[in-house]
Amino acid sequence: MTSSSHGRDMRPPRLLILGGTSEARELAARLAALEAAGAGGFEISVSLAGRTRNPLALAAPVRSGGFGGVEGLAAHLAAERIDVVVDATHPFAAAISRNAVKAAGIAGVPMLALLRPPWERQPGDIWTDAPDIPGAVAALGTAPRNVLVTLGRNEVRALEAAPQHHYLVRSIDPVDPPLALPRVVYIEARGPFALEDERALFAAHHIDALLSKNSGGAATYGKIAAARALRVEVVMVARPSRPQVETVATIDAVLDWLAERFPRSAPD
Ligand code: NAP
Repeated sequence: MTSSSHGRDMRPPRLLILGGTSEARELAARLAALEAAGAGGFEISVSLAGRTRNPLALAAPVRSGGFGGVEGLAAHLAAERIDVVVDATHPFAAAISRNAVKAAGIAGVPMLALLRPPWERQPGDIWTDAPDIPGAVAALGTAPRNVLVTLGRNEVRALEAAPQHHYLVRSIDPVDPPLALPRVVYIEARGPFALEDERALFAAHHIDALLSKNSGGAATYGKIAAARALRVEVVMVARPSRPQVETVATIDAVLDWLAERFPRSAPD
C-alpha cells in the first residue's frame, strides 16, 4: 500500500464514501481493484443509512446507521481521521448531502459529490411533472387508475391521500405496516429491471400510470422506456434541491478528482 503524509502519521489517506447506491458500490469496487493491482492507496470505508434489510455486499468496510446530524458526521470525520469524503448518495437523499457539506466544512475535509444526471424527456414520453410526492399523488387525478408506484417504502404512505386508485407498489423491502388502502398489490424486487420485463409487468397489471422519482441512471430506466412504448403517463417527481458542492456525474470523474487531489495515492 502506498504511503502518504496525511495527518501526523505516514498512512494512506482515508476516504469515506457516503453510499446506498449502485454508484457507491461500483466506486468502492473500482478503488479496491486499483488497490489490488498496486495502483490504489486509500483506506476506504462506506457509510450506509441502514434502511435496507439485506444490502448488497461492498468491496470495503461498511458502517451503518445515521451519524446524528451535522455534528455527528463532523465528529465521525474527526474521530476516524477521514481525509476526503465522496457523497455518492441517491439524488433524493438531500438531507445527508446537506449534512455532509456542512460537516466536511466543519472538519476541514475536501468533499466531492457524485450525482447521476436526471432522466430527460424523450420524444413519445408522456410526463407530468410533480414538485414532490404528495403533488405527484394529486396529479394522478380523481378517476381510478392502475398505477405502478416505484417510491421508497417510507414514501408510499402519501398514496393514502388517493384511495380511489389501484396501486402496484414495488419496493426492495416489504411495506410494513401495509398501506391503509383498499386496492394495493405489493411486489418486492431490486433492480436492475430490463425493458422487456417492465413491459410485461405493465401489461399483466393493466398499468395506465407510473409514479416515479426522477432518479436517473440505467438500472431503473426500463420502466420509463416501457411507459413510452406503451403510451403510459409518467408522473415524475422532481429532484429535491441539493447543496452547493463540487459535483461530477461519473465514477471515472471521481477517480480523476481523487488522483488530482491525492497524487501519491490514486492511480496514474
Ligand atoms: P436522507 O433523507 O438524505 O437522510 C436522512 C438521514 O438518514 C440522514 O440525516 C442521516 O441520518 C441518515 N443517512 C442517510 N444516508 C446515510 C448514509 N449513507 N450513511 C449514514 N447515514 C445516512 O436519506 P434517504 O433519502 O432516507 O436515503 C437513505 C439512504 O438510502 C441513502 O444512503 C441513499 O443513498 C439511499 N437511497 C435513497 C433513495 C431515495 O430515493 N431517497 C433511493 C435509493 C437509495 P443522521 O442525520 O442521523 O446522520
